[in-house]
Amino acid sequence: MTHTVNDGHNATQPDGVTTARLTVAPVAPGTATLLPLGIDKIRISGGFWGHRQQLNRDAIIPHIARWQERVGWTANFDAVANGTVGHTRSGREFSDSEVYKLLEAMSWEIARTGDEELEQRLQSIVERIASAQQPDGYLNTRFGNADQPSRYSDLEWGHELYCYGHLIQAAVARIRSGHHDRLVEIACKAADHVCDTFGPDGLAGVCGHPEIETALVELYRATGVRRYLRQARVFLDRRGRHSLQDIEFGRSYFQDDIPIADAQVLRGHAVRALYLSAGAVDAAVEADDSPTVEAVERQYQRTLQRRTYLTGGMGSHHQDEAFGDDFELPPDRAYCETCAGVASIMVAWRLLLTTGNLAYADTIERTLYNVVAASPSTEGTAFFYTNPLHQRVAGQPSDPDEVSPRAHAQLRAPWFEVACCPPNVARTLAQLATYVATTNRDGVQLLQYAPGTIHASLEDGQDVRLDVSTRYPDDGEVTVTVVAAPRDRWTLTLRIPSWADGATVEVDGQVSRAQAPSHTVHDAAADSRIVLRLPMEPRWTTADPRIDAVRGTVAVERGPLVLCAESVDLPGGADVQALRIDPKQPPRPVGDGAVAAGVLFVPNGGIEQPYGRLDAYIEDAYDIELPLVPYHRWANRGPSTMRVWIPTR
Ligand SMILES: [Zn+2]
Repeated sequence: MTHTVNDGHNATQPDGVTTARLTVAPVAPGTATLLPLGIDKIRISGGFWGHRQQLNRDAIIPHIARWQERVGWTANFDAVANGTVGHTRSGREFSDSEVYKLLEAMSWEIARTGDEELEQRLQSIVERIASAQQPDGYLNTRFGNADQPSRYSDLEWGHELYCYGHLIQAAVARIRSGHHDRLVEIACKAADHVCDTFGPDGLAGVCGHPEIETALVELYRATGVRRYLRQARVFLDRRGRHSLQDIEFGRSYFQDDIPIADAQVLRGHAVRALYLSAGAVDAAVEADDSPTVEAVERQYQRTLQRRTYLTGGMGSHHQDEAFGDDFELPPDRAYCETCAGVASIMVAWRLLLTTGNLAYADTIERTLYNVVAASPSTEGTAFFYTNPLHQRVAGQPSDPDEVSPRAHAQLRAPWFEVACCPPNVARTLAQLATYVATTNRDGVQLLQYAPGTIHASLEDGQDVRLDVSTRYPDDGEVTVTVVAAPRDRWTLTLRIPSWADGATVEVDGQVSRAQAPSHTVHDAAADSRIVLRLPMEPRWTTADPRIDAVRGTVAVERGPLVLCAESVDLPGGADVQALRIDPKQPPRPVGDGAVAAGVLFVPNGGIEQPYGRLDAYIEDAYDIELPLVPYHRWANRGPSTMRVWIPTR
């Protein structure tokens, strides 16, 4: 069943505020099967994600702001205003976008907490950006100013439209949280300039990095201005028609090889492909264009089936940060850029809202716990850019004052030449509550399990208020107390993860079995107590044998967590290359990880070449208790080698 939330254009109320603005969330589609709830309606009060939201506020956001000042990316805007940017500019061509992503993170954080000091910091950055905007709305610190290349002279690599996309997403966060301020004015002026310049009769180009498409659709949803939606469609229709130059990686790198609806699977640069998919779903939803939604869903499904790592990570090519072929998923060469994880969550979330398929929340959970949570260090002051599933060489600790040449970091680094990932983590953590639950005509769907409160108003105006208490994922028990419920019929739907064989739901003392993807409780009255119990025993996971790189290996998972072996846990710091595991003995739970029956072998030191007789390489072997820890925590105890997939022989 599809509900109309707001048709954007017609729903403008006399004061100019559209109903869609009232959803304090990054995605608020005009029509949806499941409706998002704003971050003002869901509060995460603690636990795994509450802790990370606090870390985001206390450490990650301030760290990012400090580094952006330090490397001069914020000052680039000042330099445009005083006319010196052509000689003094620092950072890569897309560095403006990192400042905008920080503003988006701050905006959601202010919406979440009402932090007035953070509001002051945001406003001071916005003033500096405002001073760099040209009278016609153009805004960029790398192009179009004195002693710089002219505007839009390098659509393949220039990222000007991409930067506007992030500026617009920050502005949408402001509008949705009730602010119509300078940041919104700057973004709307820039968006108008884009429509004037790249409209049907204008420059017939697209950006080498998709992102503006999804942003323009959301700006339309937030403001009701239809030309933003039209411009998004223009960009989407132009994509795949070779308006960009061919490059060494081929036009598939920026998805300009074939039209969006003609593709079978996601290909090329992973973040580009996923941002484009998000925009294509957004625009198609507003146009009631179900063939395009179905085409993107097919592509994304096939990508999940054949081009996605166990962690939910995507992208197996380092040289072009791209998807590999089907089943080309080497764990040691996994690229799995943190941003690709964030972008995959964006696509999964949009598909969940439009199709109502709760299995997409499994994908979101997997990616949140094993990609997004893996990026920041315990202190929130260093980050992973790439997320390999096998580290062969222990890394060197990063100098906390040094900028890392991005993906090469084998340990988390404080900052990168290309620092797209840290602010992407920050904005995702700040907006996290929106992914916890949805609503529809019938009731509420609980998608992610975190302690806190949920408040939904059903279509007939009746309120549902839920209190959730849980230690998940340390423990599989989730207790939902119905604080307020409709007098009439309603449903509470609990997502059951695909791995949760044997899950049960207890309603006021009555226990029943629950199966993936969901279990529905009918007409729970106020004060009802519903207890979901998910099996959290460690479990073996094997891979499709067509993923050659991990054939003959197993991984261990526990609840939503992928576990891994780290050399710091091996006797004498032995190397993870020398590990084997005995899959006949089940792994035992220990803490939030596990212990399995392992074997460490001693390589034959006399071997002169690595190819020969089957029994030539191993001199000795001995049994060990093999500790396995959550992947998201790896490398937090200093340099180590690590592997997720462990050979069985
Ligand atoms: Zn990134």
